[in-house]
Amino acid sequence: MRFPISLTAAALLVAAVSRPAPQQAASVAAADDTTTVVLLGTGMPRPDPDASGPATAVVVGHKTFLFDAGPGVERRLAAARLPINGVTALFITHLHSDHTLGLPDLIFTSWVMGRARPMQAYGPHGLRAMVDDIDAAWSEDIVIRTNGLEHDPPGGWRVNVHEIKPGVVYDSDGVRVTAIPVLHGSWKEAYGYRIDTPTRSVVISGDTRPCPALEAAARGVDVLVHEVYPASKLKPENRPGGQDWVEYMHQFHTSDVELGQLAARAQPKLLILTHIVRMGATDSELIAGVRRGGFRGKVVVGKDLERF
Ligand SMILES: [Zn+2]
Ligand SMILES: [Zn+2]
Repeated sequence: MRFPISLTAAALLVAAVSRPAPQQAASVAAADDTTTVVLLGTGMPRPDPDASGPATAVVVGHKTFLFDAGPGVERRLAAARLPINGVTALFITHLHSDHTLGLPDLIFTSWVMGRARPMQAYGPHGLRAMVDDIDAAWSEDIVIRTNGLEHDPPGGWRVNVHEIKPGVVYDSDGVRVTAIPVLHGSWKEAYGYRIDTPTRSVVISGDTRPCPALEAAARGVDVLVHEVYPASKLKPENRPGGQDWVEYMHQFHTSDVELGQLAARAQPKLLILTHIVRMGATDSELIAGVRRGGFRGKVVVGKDLERF
């Protein structure tokens, strides 16, 4: 079942897009506790016009919490009528390029669209160096846009980086975000996130092989957004290094059958598949894999710009 965004929230979001207000403006009227999961990018590294790079928004009233910044993220925010001039907070799961290639876009496009205050960004160690390097790479652009005829807000490109540890990393106005260490192959630090709002609980897996800590965090949750690949299609690939593809997927990612097993134990009220490494599998084949794993609850194959 889809959860259509409330009229009030939709009106606020449209207002936020059509007339950019300063980031995190406190001027939006009544608090609205509506919580909506918006799939901004359900893809993986292979460029697919229909499945943008990994990015999921959890919209709580007028606040947009963004999880990962895959390529295309600002255009997907625009398409979803979410703020293009700065999200409330960004949470990065890990520093793989497919999850962070949209970071310069998010930083600079939000500035050009009116952001005047630092963006709050949470993520693993190394995120600060990445942001510093991005700033350095675009240093000429920063000077020209600030001092030239464009008159972009001075310093509006800045990012406040919070390099995190497992546990609660954000807790404000009834929204709590907890970082869960996950098992993503040889990455030393990779996180999933659990988001608790006044009305709902959401867990976003990030990239991980089946992970007991994530399963525990997802127990009985309203929405589990989880990465997936089809077990039935996994085989060595005919390319240099392709003989290790099966082992790579086992160490780094979660199959549909494994996800079905995990979900059967955790019992989320809704399971959404994302970051879909399809290998040619159809939606029904992915769902069948989840069912083979034993999950009998609601499951959907996520599509970009769907709302739940
Ligand atoms: Zn990854
Ligand atoms: Zn990935």
